[in-house]
Amino acid sequence: MKYDLHCHSRFSDGELGPAQLLALACEQNLDLWAITDHDTIAAWPVLLEACEQLSQEQQAKLPKLITGVEISSQWQGAGIHILGLNIDPQAEVLNQFLTVQAQLRGERAELIAKKLAAKGLGELLAGALALNDDKLDGLSRVHFAKAMVASGVVKSSKQAFDKWLGNGKIGDVKQSWPELEACVAAITQAGGVAVLAHPLKYKFTTTKLKRLLNDFCAAGGRGLEVVSAGQNPQQLALLSQLAQEFELVASGGSDLHQAGLSWCQLGQLVPIPKACKPVWELF
Ligand code: AMP
Ligand code: MN
Ligand code: MN
Ligand code: MN
Repeated sequence: MKYDLHCHSRFSDGELGPAQLLALACEQNLDLWAITDHDTIAAWPVLLEACEQLSQEQQAKLPKLITGVEISSQWQGAGIHILGLNIDPQAEVLNQFLTVQAQLRGERAELIAKKLAAKGLGELLAGALALNDDKLDGLSRVHFAKAMVASGVVKSSKQAFDKWLGNGKIGDVKQSWPELEACVAAITQAGGVAVLAHPLKYKFTTTKLKRLLNDFCAAGGRGLEVVSAGQNPQQLALLSQLAQEFELVASGGSDLHQAGLSWCQLGQLVPIPKACKPVWELF
């Protein structure tokens, strides 16, 4: 089973449009695939349209397409990402929820711009907006990182995150995200499976991660992202064991944002560990 249930398009902070991602997914012969943009499902209709443009021969080889989203939440003050897989894209509750998320991103962007300007980095909002079709709603830190590179205040996006936008830095404004429970509920009410994204990225101790998993399960969360790009065997073993301990199904995805990186390619993932129940058994 070649799968990838976590990647980003231009509708959030990815560099590729849905049609370009689709071409990659077909090139990789994926069997199962989802685009999971941050707080938006706007790529879905565009992806379906791109599929219709393909020849019948190409359409016969398409991966099974799963709807997806990666929702920004907070838990005990930390920013936590929850994937919603196999959601109903028409679901009223989810769409309303995501409209608010996009507005929160807009409000946060204004705050980020103010904080960075106060540090003498200049006016960055216009540059960030230009990378998001001039829309304030939905703006991300990645847009700011790119605007900072363009204006010359940093050399690379990495430096922008290391100095200004990364965890705990001045531009890491996350207090506006809804609590974990509300995010899981929005996914569940839309018929989706809530999956805790990249559990090791939060840099929690295993004890704290288990507390998060307790709360996540109590809220109705059903899956754990056990496989991510660039993981080592120990990390995989830990996540596999946690999925079993908390009776969570196992998901996996590259979290691809751009093409051409050797360590992060669409669908280049190890299999879901045999001891785990794969998330697709719920689709
Ligand atoms: P946001 O959704 O606006 O909070 O931005 C979070 C996004 O920024 C993540 O999904 C990553 O794509 C990117 N990101 C977060 N931390 C880093 C980092 N240290 N270096 C590069 N990109 C990062
Ligand atoms: Mn991202
Ligand atoms: Mn994430
Ligand atoms: Mn992601």
